[in-house]
Amino acid sequence: MNNKDIATPIRTKEILKKYGFSFKKSLGQNFLIDTNILDRIVDHAEITDRTGVIEIGPGIGALTEQLAKRAKKVVAFEIDQRLLPILNDTLSPYDNVTIIHHDVLKADVKSVIEEQFQDCDEIMVTANLPYYVTTPIIMKLLEEHLPLKGIVVMLQKEVAERMAADPSSKEYGSLSIAVQFYTEAKTVMTVPKTVFVPQPNVDSAVIRLLLRDGPAVDVDNESFFFQLIKASFAQRRKTLLNNLVNNLPGGKEKKPQIEEVLQETNGKRRGESLSIEEFALLSNGLYKALF
Ligand code: SAM
Repeated sequence: MNNKDIATPIRTKEILKKYGFSFKKSLGQNFLIDTNILDRIVDHAEITDRTGVIEIGPGIGALTEQLAKRAKKVVAFEIDQRLLPILNDTLSPYDNVTIIHHDVLKADVKSVIEEQFQDCDEIMVTANLPYYVTTPIIMKLLEEHLPLKGIVVMLQKEVAERMAADPSSKEYGSLSIAVQFYTEAKTVMTVPKTVFVPQPNVDSAVIRLLLRDGPAVDVDNESFFFQLIKASFAQRRKTLLNNLVNNLPGGKEKKPQIEEVLQETNGKRRGESLSIEEFALLSNGLYKALF
């Protein structure tokens, strides 16, 4: 780090003042003003001069700058048009950064990867995410089966805990299974509110998601597996049997078949006690019995 870095409190203040920038809460704009935290994020992402990085929401370029120093190339999606001239200025010393003015949720990320990262050995997503859309962004990146090595992002601590949760913990639920189906998930650091301007209302954490070569478990029908997961956690206090009968499409009519399959896994259990492997077995058994 050095004093000229964008993410120092003084430089950030200067940039915001120069452009008369006002934060939009609705876009989750909480900018980082601590280069040590940024260094640690980049370390956890293990970025090298062979890595292509996708950043979501560069803001005024605090993280982008630290990524540009270490990566081969950085491509950043920013939704807020007002930030484009600022980024053009703050990132002018770096010739390996491309800013794309687009809502990442609507962007064709696959094509961007094909166009931009031909000369990179691996691709990482690294970001300080806008908190109002953390889960949709991560699920989009996973469900589109992009050729990523991993995702290392700052997000709400509570959401990070749910993504990385183990069975039977109170944080474990459909989000844990969806994320762990595609990745190995670990919360690598917690971050105090004081390193942001303005300070967010919630605590933050950095999660590291390393993409698996294939899904964590073999399921005969992926979309039924996810329907089953959703139904199993619909009402946390209810047993698995109750949740499946009430929340699987056509569940009430197919109660006898569901009961029969559940005898093997014990329908009195609650969804939160089943591991991802147990859910896969249940999904394959139910799929055969119901369709
Ligand atoms: N990376 C900067 C930093 O760490 O200081 C800013 C992070 S700030 C938490 C989130 C950024 O995401 C903001 O710049 C915001 O405008 C942008 N953003 C919000 N929604 C977005 C979306 N759907 N697509 C792309 N960028 C978005």
